[in-house]
Amino acid sequence: MAIDLGFVEKCESWRLESRFFPSKIGGKPAWLDLKNIPSKSDLECEYCGDPCVFLCQIYAPYEENANAFHRTVYVFICKNPDCCKPDQNGNLKIFRSQLSKINMFYPAEPPVEQEDWAKEINVLQWSKTCHICGILAPNHCSKCKIANYCSRVHQVHDWKNGHKYVCGTEANINNNSNSFLFPEYEIVIENDNIVKENQQQNTLENEQEEIEKYNTMVQDGKAGIFQHKDVDNDLLCMANDEKDEMFANFRTKIDDYPDQILRYDRGGNVLYISSHNQIVDVPKCPECNSNRQFEFQIMPQLLNFLDLKDVVKSLDWGILAVFTCKQSCVPKDKYVKEYIWKQDILQEKN
Ligand SMILES: [Zn+2]
Ligand SMILES: [Zn+2]
Ligand SMILES: [Zn+2]
Ligand SMILES: [Zn+2]
Repeated sequence: MAIDLGFVEKCESWRLESRFFPSKIGGKPAWLDLKNIPSKSDLECEYCGDPCVFLCQIYAPYEENANAFHRTVYVFICKNPDCCKPDQNGNLKIFRSQLSKINMFYPAEPPVEQEDWAKEINVLQWSKTCHICGILAPNHCSKCKIANYCSRVHQVHDWKNGHKYVCGTEANINNNSNSFLFPEYEIVIENDNIVKENQQQNTLENEQEEIEKYNTMVQDGKAGIFQHKDVDNDLLCMANDEKDEMFANFRTKIDDYPDQILRYDRGGNVLYISSHNQIVDVPKCPECNSNRQFEFQIMPQLLNFLDLKDVVKSLDWGILAVFTCKQSCVPKDKYVKEYIWKQDILQEKN
């Protein structure tokens, strides 16, 4: 069976807002359920306690399930470099939200492609979200009472990074990009077969362009193992050092589309990057006690789009494998916590 692959594309910011049910990286989360948004306590990193930052969301409805007519899975990660531990997932948070076609937030008709959609729906009537990170915001700036925050940490961050200049002025303080967030991109999801057809039509010129793009990324010092020029060399070392056929298989599988950042294969199998630290026991859904199944995995190529400078340069993963409730159950009025597994390419050599 063909699996779906996700690729990164630039996109106007408004097209990535809630009403358009996007799959995307970075910026603030485009919440599906606008009312029961996760709060800081839901998003605290297990290691440092800071709220995790939005990494990406995948819009993945279940066609056969009316309760999951709309369905989005959200992934968050802690930016603190010390919290990125090999083969550990305490710096990651994952949530699932879903709605039926008739719901209290959106009209049943597909959205009209227009920038001012929010006038019709008025997101703000439901919940206030943090000006910095976009999660539930119970606090606000005591001076202007306009800027809302999830936590004191983000209020202080915002004040230092510019709110002190615009507080109380008419300046438009809505923003979907700040130094806390990752850069925003659309994730375009395509069926593997369709991609293959397109690929064949690609001219050599296009391929050359792609190669240059990746070389630039390498020069910029961005992470992601497949953009290293020495990748074949790495592979050789791996093969010798680790005798890791799993890694070789991984490389072969993604070779046709090396820039894929997502593999979506609900009910399928994880494509492991290493024979180490494979998952053996996925906890059951805490809401309905059903088994969870593999749904998708985030690839290391996504790291190339995160603009990882300074402190977050050490943010890394081999794959992030996501497991969700097989029933895709519908708990009332909440975002459901799901399970995410981080596998790194190399074990730490002690
Ligand atoms: Zn942390
Ligand atoms: Zn916040
Ligand atoms: Zn203020
Ligand atoms: Zn469940």
